[in-house]
Amino acid sequence: QAKVAGKGCYRFYSKAMDQAVERRVQLEEELRGAWERGELSLHYQPIYRLADRRLMGAEALCRWQHPRLGVVPPSVFIEVAEQSGLIESLGRHVLVQACQDAAAWSQPGMEPPFVSVNISPRQLRTGDLPDVVASALAATGVLPKQLHLELTETAVLGDEVQASALLSRLRATGVKVWLDDFGTGFSGLSHLRRVPVDGVKIDRSFVADVLRDPDDLALTSAIIAMAHSLGITVVAEGIEAEGQYEVLRERGCDQGQGFWLGRPMPASEMQRRFRE
Ligand code: C2E
Ligand code: MG
Ligand code: MG
Ligand code: MG
Repeated sequence: QAKVAGKGCYRFYSKAMDQAVERRVQLEEELRGAWERGELSLHYQPIYRLADRRLMGAEALCRWQHPRLGVVPPSVFIEVAEQSGLIESLGRHVLVQACQDAAAWSQPGMEPPFVSVNISPRQLRTGDLPDVVASALAATGVLPKQLHLELTETAVLGDEVQASALLSRLRATGVKVWLDDFGTGFSGLSHLRRVPVDGVKIDRSFVADVLRDPDDLALTSAIIAMAHSLGITVVAEGIEAEGQYEVLRERGCDQGQGFWLGRPMPASEMQRRFRE
């Protein structure tokens, strides 16, 4: 396409592409050591049981306070970390920090809250995830059942047989495995039978239209019914309005998170919410 458009145009595209590559390389350089410099931190978004709106746990979401650019969203830097391999050390820091924070949420006489940590495909592929998880648990004293690992459907479906073995190993240690952004890969429902998971998180694109689009409501209800028949917990993400909360609760969705229930917040604020 670019070549057909002529030489000048080609140069234009190529320059834009060069700049994009340059920016990526620079981001990668700056991301190196960012955790050690204290630029990366975890925010937490509360996750509630829908039946009685009880606070059950929270999802850890990484934030990068870049010295020059301000807050860089994870949608930008996780991809850079993933492609450069930096995700392996970043992922280890995130796991330990999340477990450390969750340890402080527990209160006597209460079911200990869980912390849910996003795991990128590359962390899954390197194969030492069970060791990384075990050492994070040992270092912080958090109970295995308090740690939930969020894996994306696509990461797991890439190599189902190997992923299943890894997931079984992880689950045998007592940690819970959730499938994130569920429904976007669509092959989802049938794969649920073969991939051993404890929970699925319905992607927020379904939740967004659940009141307007009968197809999305039907699909959401089907996911809930199918998951429950397999003994799998269902969590909805991206609940932005009371109506969405109500319809999901009616349909039997177990847990949920979203701006209407609580935005991601610093660890200290999350801790206060668990105290209330
Ligand atoms: P995710 O795991 O699906 O996380 C949910 C995202 O939805 C978060 O975006 C959250 O802030 C946002 N969200 C929550 N409730 C609502 C809502 O009601 N409406 C809307 N529009 N959005 C909502 P965030 O924090 O920007 O993270 C984006 C993605 O980056 C995450 O998607 C996750 O895949 C990835 N990520 C974040 N932290 C980490 C990490 O520590 N490690 C890895 N590997 N990935 C991470
Ligand atoms: Mg997630
Ligand atoms: Mg998600
Ligand atoms: Mg739709």
